[in-house]
Amino acid sequence: MPLTPEEFYANALGDADQDGRVALSRMTGWKIFPFEREGLRVVPLLRPEVPEAPRRGEDGLACGGCDAPLGGTLWENERWRLITFGEPSGAPLVMMLQPKGHYDLIDLPEDLAAELGRLVVHVSRALESLPGIARAHVSRWGDGGAHLHLFFFARPSGFPQLRGTCFAIWDDLLAPVPREMRDADAHTVALTLESSFGGSATAPP
Ligand SMILES: [Zn+2]
Repeated sequence: MPLTPEEFYANALGDADQDGRVALSRMTGWKIFPFEREGLRVVPLLRPEVPEAPRRGEDGLACGGCDAPLGGTLWENERWRLITFGEPSGAPLVMMLQPKGHYDLIDLPEDLAAELGRLVVHVSRALESLPGIARAHVSRWGDGGAHLHLFFFARPSGFPQLRGTCFAIWDDLLAPVPREMRDADAHTVALTLESSFGGSATAPP
């Protein structure tokens, strides 16, 4: 059985200082870590807040996924949409897959759950078929909004330093890729998905 929030807090502090700052360790020593250790310190660990504040799309809060889907739709079928964001970021391409219906991951009906599995494979395959893309990283956090949204980060080939989980941070640090290239690659992925999976790629912006 998991620890209670208070038990987790007490345990996680370990030998933190009096402000609740734990020591640098593990990830900060990785070769892929984006920051130098010198001068870096961990923010204080805040006490648990129970119950947590509602996310967008629950407890009466507006839902972006239902009311105002972000960015431009690249591809869709009756049940899902694949989108990009308005502004490019450091990764060559970042996309989001979400159901059109208001479901979180654990609420998906069996048919949508099965379709999601296939879509993750087909979108990843389309991304990794782009020249210069080594990997499609897939992630679902869901702490901001209750409407399921899966991220796909295209990791450029030739950069061992950009491997792994820190790429989501590098995406925010690196200068944005040119918009016209990002949009063209996004449309290529949509056309590949239309070909391999079905659904419809939408016209490029
Ligand atoms: Zn929703």
